[in-house]
Amino acid sequence: MSTALSPEVRTRALARMSADVLDVLVIGGGVTGAGAALDAASRGLTVGLVEQRDWASGTSSRASKLVHGGLRYLEMLDFALVREALHERGLLVGRLAPHLVHPVPFLYPLRHRVWERAYTGAGIALYDVLGGLLGRVGGQGVPLHRHLSKKALRRVAPSLREDAAVGAIRYWDAKVDDARLVQVLVRTAVGHGALAASRTQVVGYLEEDGRVAGVRAVDLETGRELTIRARHVVGATGVWTDQTQELFRAQGLTVRASKGVHIAVPREVIAGEDGIILRTEKSVLFIIPWPTHWVIGTTDTPWDLAKDHPVASAADVDYLLERANEVLERPLSRDDVVGVYTGLRPLLQPVGEEGAATTKVSREHTVATVRPGLTVIAGGKYTTYRVMARDVVDMALADRAPGEDPDAPVPASLTEELPLAGADGYRVRWNRKAHLARAHGWTETRVEHLLDRYGSLVDELLALVDADPDLGRPLEGAPDYVRAEVVYAVTAEGALHLEDVLTRRTRLSYEQADRGTASARPAAELMARLLGWDDAQREREIATYLARVEAERAAEAMPDDTSAERARLQAPEIRPFAASA
Ligand SMILES: Cc1cc2nc3c(=O)[nH]c(=O)nc-3n(C[C@H](O)[C@H](O)[C@H](O)COP(=O)(O)OP(=O)(O)OC[C@H]3O[C@@H](n4cnc5c(N)ncnc54)[C@H](O)[C@@H]3O)c2cc1C
Repeated sequence: MSTALSPEVRTRALARMSADVLDVLVIGGGVTGAGAALDAASRGLTVGLVEQRDWASGTSSRASKLVHGGLRYLEMLDFALVREALHERGLLVGRLAPHLVHPVPFLYPLRHRVWERAYTGAGIALYDVLGGLLGRVGGQGVPLHRHLSKKALRRVAPSLREDAAVGAIRYWDAKVDDARLVQVLVRTAVGHGALAASRTQVVGYLEEDGRVAGVRAVDLETGRELTIRARHVVGATGVWTDQTQELFRAQGLTVRASKGVHIAVPREVIAGEDGIILRTEKSVLFIIPWPTHWVIGTTDTPWDLAKDHPVASAADVDYLLERANEVLERPLSRDDVVGVYTGLRPLLQPVGEEGAATTKVSREHTVATVRPGLTVIAGGKYTTYRVMARDVVDMALADRAPGEDPDAPVPASLTEELPLAGADGYRVRWNRKAHLARAHGWTETRVEHLLDRYGSLVDELLALVDADPDLGRPLEGAPDYVRAEVVYAVTAEGALHLEDVLTRRTRLSYEQADRGTASARPAAELMARLLGWDDAQREREIATYLARVEAERAAEAMPDDTSAERARLQAPEIRPFAASA
């Protein structure tokens, strides 16, 4: 079955969702909801997935983008948690998404000669045992750690200050373009028969004999209201979990939001290939290498304002610069910052006595059937999305709907064995990259960039270029991307608006110093032809994107969250939300 997420596929999905009774309807198109849709669809169930904005537009496009066990959980002696996350890392790197999840080396600078090397070295050795050795899948995994002397550290990280460390330990984790993985999860789910629609907001619920029997939703593209009937409804709405429960007149999980900010600086301002992990008062700071830039983050502060547009203030950006500058030879300044992005961590609060009917609380995520027919999940982390997805589908199905045989076994999750779209054949194409480069007149670097974004789905992109060689040219204002990627974003990756392309299908909104504004018009012109936009709509798309960039820049100059949010809210929504029913 095709995995394409085109506008026509979306329209058909909505029509079928309103006509059929689904086995499972998932609300929320972040990594958890997309994972749950894939989990349920691959068990042979009929599945719908709805997201109120673009795929991954919530927290799941705004993470540190690490697929990791978390060294700090090891320090808390939470071995089970680290083991689980490292197992998932091994699966993703080795089998499920080798095209998207890539090993990355990190330097852990040491400040004290003997005890710190021994203490941290033992911890990282254990990390390797839990992940690097036991977490290998199909012989694939990440390399093992190594100790570096002060001299060796200077060689691999010449930008570190002389007095920043007496040596280091180099260990490996993995990184992922978070928005892309979500989109690929949705596509893989669609390939297994799931019906998926973005820009579809759940505004109310259907009830039969006291049981949740589906939802009322609004297609925000047309304003049309629809009802979607389902035997099991799953809420995977991250920091919106409390609102979702209110919508269903249910109580169970309480989720608070904590803000995390990242900045991006150009690759050339810090020399070296390895990432760096630094301890901070509260947690850790990562300096993470990407092909054209470094991502530096993150912060951790409570966020009690509206959840739709969290933004960074000047205080956040300055904090990150100060922390990084503690170890960098050439201090970074505001002028070095090309991009900024901000996300909200869904933090679970303890469940009250009178809370959920069925609750399984783990250190990382919680699943609860909060009303018959409605199961919600929140917390956790990106790395363990597959486990979360499996747990929520298991619990939803255990809450039998009328007509379901209470003794029939629940089909088991298969996702551990299921490569995501683009994974199969990725390594073969990687071996042919010189040939692909020659055939299209590209550099090998460009082909690598494409393979690491599309895997074997690159064939579909190349077919577009073969049919229209002009699409093989770089996108204006974005030399690392080709024009075909904009077309493919619309025809296969579910992009409906300009900001979907500039912010999540590409990451121009934080990778480029102009935040993608120079690409806005050329990208909108390519999209207009495919989406049938008239001139007025095309101009509105461009103006809305430019206003968003301007508002975010204004916010980043504000001293605190309240003034930053006020500045951000000056920009209009391309598709405003509907009122809840
Ligand atoms: C700063 C930061 C750094 C992080 N770094 C890492 C990391 O490096 N590694 C890691 O493993 N984890 C990391 N995490 C954690 C990880 O990003 C999150 O746990 C994960 O992305 C949460 O995904 P989710 O699907 O649960 O929520 P979301 O991605 O927020 O998805 C919920 C979705 O529900 C939708 N929704 C809400 N209400 C409705 C409605 N009524 N109708 C339809 N749709 C609705 C929203 O629009 C949203 O898209 C980080 C988090 C933050 C904030």
